[in-house]
Amino acid sequence: MTHFWHPFADMKQVAGHELVLDRGEGVWIYDTEGNRYLDASGSLWYANVGHGRRELADAAAAQLARLEAYSAYDRLATRPVLELADRLSALAPMSDAAVFFTTAGSDAIESAVKLVRRYWTATGRPEKHVIVARERAYHGVSGYGVSLGGIPANREGFGELAPGIEHVPYGDTDAVAELLRRGDVAAFIGEPVIGAGGVYPPPDGYWPAVERLCREHDVLLVLDEVITGFGRLGEWFGAQRYGIEPDLFTFAKGITSGYVPLGGVVVGQRVQEPFWRGDAGMFRHGYTYSGHATAAAVALANLDIIEREGLVQRVKELEPAFAAKLRSIDGAVEVRTAGLVAGVQVEDVDGVIARLRDGGVLTRAVGGHSLQICPPLVITEDEIDLLAERIGAAVA
Ligand code: PLP
Repeated sequence: MTHFWHPFADMKQVAGHELVLDRGEGVWIYDTEGNRYLDASGSLWYANVGHGRRELADAAAAQLARLEAYSAYDRLATRPVLELADRLSALAPMSDAAVFFTTAGSDAIESAVKLVRRYWTATGRPEKHVIVARERAYHGVSGYGVSLGGIPANREGFGELAPGIEHVPYGDTDAVAELLRRGDVAAFIGEPVIGAGGVYPPPDGYWPAVERLCREHDVLLVLDEVITGFGRLGEWFGAQRYGIEPDLFTFAKGITSGYVPLGGVVVGQRVQEPFWRGDAGMFRHGYTYSGHATAAAVALANLDIIEREGLVQRVKELEPAFAAKLRSIDGAVEVRTAGLVAGVQVEDVDGVIARLRDGGVLTRAVGGHSLQICPPLVITEDEIDLLAERIGAAVA
């Protein structure tokens, strides 16, 4: 019997029935019995460069041997962390962005919310404290993240959640306008494409309309790019795909392709201003691993791979075939895609997932009804064909 309490798992069902994974190579994962699975979900949306990259193991080993990590509080820093901040700032869809590092996505969200609220108190507008989030949203599992989340089951049974948060339907700009008119809104937050809520790309024109409303009502625009960053949508970030410029955005997952945990918040000049040049003083927030040298070294090597192999452009090229193949699956109820991410909605999603696993494909359910399709960006057209074929067979 296992002693491992799995995340997001019903242990009464899981204990004694674990599938133990052993190694990976590209889009393929092998279990301890030698069975091979196509990684249809990119693990938890993060395996952008694919599995088993020696180069990333070497980058980690080299930094671990030199200086594994050291506090970055106050004036301390390490070279990989400084270099990674420069590199992210250059890639970001805003000028001269600053980067605040965290350990993963949930604490990136916590950091973004605290930063936004602290910004408004520092600039003399403490009444602006409400954060507007969306139904179907997923922003991690920490205090603010759960409160911002719009998946009902994830919010139940935890007692009172964080105050000062309002939800709007995911594609509804009228509801956003109505809330923003109140004058107490600090920020609007959303995933460029809703992920764990079921994969819902935005309706046409949604993001530019939200951006306009935020500017009109002096509300900060926060994007949660934890899934959509680092090429997933055929641009470095979702903001670029939808032609908007956030005030700040969160990232995690694809920054290291999951080889080590890392996340953070990229912050534009407006929110930097009171802290970097004004009188706001210290942002009293930070994690032990806010600026972890080995995580940063792996991230740099991961960005090297994305750039060298042209993976962002590759997503653009693969997108039409990916969408067409998935849309051609007989028996799918609905297929929603953007870049190399999709929600394939099916009847009996748990049954389909079990049959896929038996047939050599790993994925999971999102939104309670859809298959999470988010393969490594190195997937080939042949592997996309195979994936669609196997989903078709499992549905049939
Ligand atoms: N935000 C989004 C959009 C996510 O998809 C996730 C995780 O899936 C998170 C935040 C939380 O990230 P983590 O699980 O790394 O804490």
